[in-house]
Amino acid sequence: MFLLYDGFDVIMSNLKHYLEKIRKGDIYFDEAFKLSILLREIGVLHLIFSVLFFIMGNIHLGVYDVIVFVIYNLLVVLVKKKKFKLLILLTAVEVVIHGLICTATLGIGTGFTLYYFTMILGLFYTVYAWDVFKKKERTVIIYTIAALLAMLASYLISVFCNPIILIPEIWSHIFNVSNIVLSMAALLEFLILLGWDILSKNENLSSKNDELDKMANMDPLTKLYNRRYIDGVLAAKYEELHQTGDIFGIIIADIDDFKKVNDTYGHDAGDEVLVRVAEILKKSVRDNDYVCRWGGEEFLVIIAGNKQITSDVAERMRKSIMKEVIKLDEADISITMTFGVTESTPGYTVEKLINIADENLYKGKNNGKNQVVI
Ligand code: GH3
Ligand code: MG
Ligand code: MG
Repeated sequence: MFLLYDGFDVIMSNLKHYLEKIRKGDIYFDEAFKLSILLREIGVLHLIFSVLFFIMGNIHLGVYDVIVFVIYNLLVVLVKKKKFKLLILLTAVEVVIHGLICTATLGIGTGFTLYYFTMILGLFYTVYAWDVFKKKERTVIIYTIAALLAMLASYLISVFCNPIILIPEIWSHIFNVSNIVLSMAALLEFLILLGWDILSKNENLSSKNDELDKMANMDPLTKLYNRRYIDGVLAAKYEELHQTGDIFGIIIADIDDFKKVNDTYGHDAGDEVLVRVAEILKKSVRDNDYVCRWGGEEFLVIIAGNKQITSDVAERMRKSIMKEVIKLDEADISITMTFGVTESTPGYTVEKLINIADENLYKGKNNGKNQVVI
């Protein structure tokens, strides 16, 4: 019993996973696949009616619907040729002709006109979810007008002509109920398809937006935050300091004699050094700290902590950088960095704090480099 229950649980979680993937658009059914399914469904719908017509004893309509069933199955071949527009046109023409013939033969009360409305939503879905039609609005309007004209024509037929066959009232009800159920089911299917399409497109769009956001905040070479992003972080930290009193530290770090690296090994080698330095700096901080590429070979680090904690981090960074042997194509090289440190002080603007860190950095540069100045 428990085994059975476990098995059911596994199946349900797999199903959930699968549905989630479908919803996100990870599992993607293309237009051709969906259209061939839809065509086959419409074919089956006609087969159901042909059976009903045969049972009722109307051979003509029975045969007619068998032929329509066969036609829809043949149309699936056209899907492979990607003749979507033609297929949609043919389907619309068929729906209208079928509605008119059935209305003229059996009367408007049998409900064969309901599919005109299903057709409008089906077309709306096809036009907006698929990239088949260029003039989307025009296409929807033309098909909608065609559906409404078909409705009007059906009504006029029922007013001016008696049904060709007088069927028992019970059959009228059978057809009416079948048509209500089937046309609503088709309507629901189109609604689900449309909703699914909108959902997965939205999901896609928002994940692309997230990616763009990330890229807009990132330095492409080092994959560190860029100056634009860190300006926002500094402003937020400044606010926080004045509201909650949370102190933060700033480090400005600059590679020593970087020009020599470029001059000796070339600009590409210089870029490799920058990437490696960025990795080391990033490894030296915790999750709630920020490392950014401030300028060419200058980095700005925001540390959640006071002067002591910040200078400890800077010292750790200095040692790691100094110890690191960077393997370039041309040679293995070692570099050093100089660090200017400061702590946030109420009343000091962000610009002022950065200036202080910068001044400390240049003190370090003048004092022989490869050091942390607080
Ligand atoms: P100091 O120790 O005083 O900082 O000397 P330095 O040579 O590092 O400083 P300087 O400001 O004279 O030179 C910085 C060099 O950094 C000059 C510039 O070409 C180089 N640089 C800036 N951005 C990049 C970059 O993206 N890639 C490479 N390869 N080099 C860069
Ligand atoms: Mg430098
Ligand atoms: Mg510099």
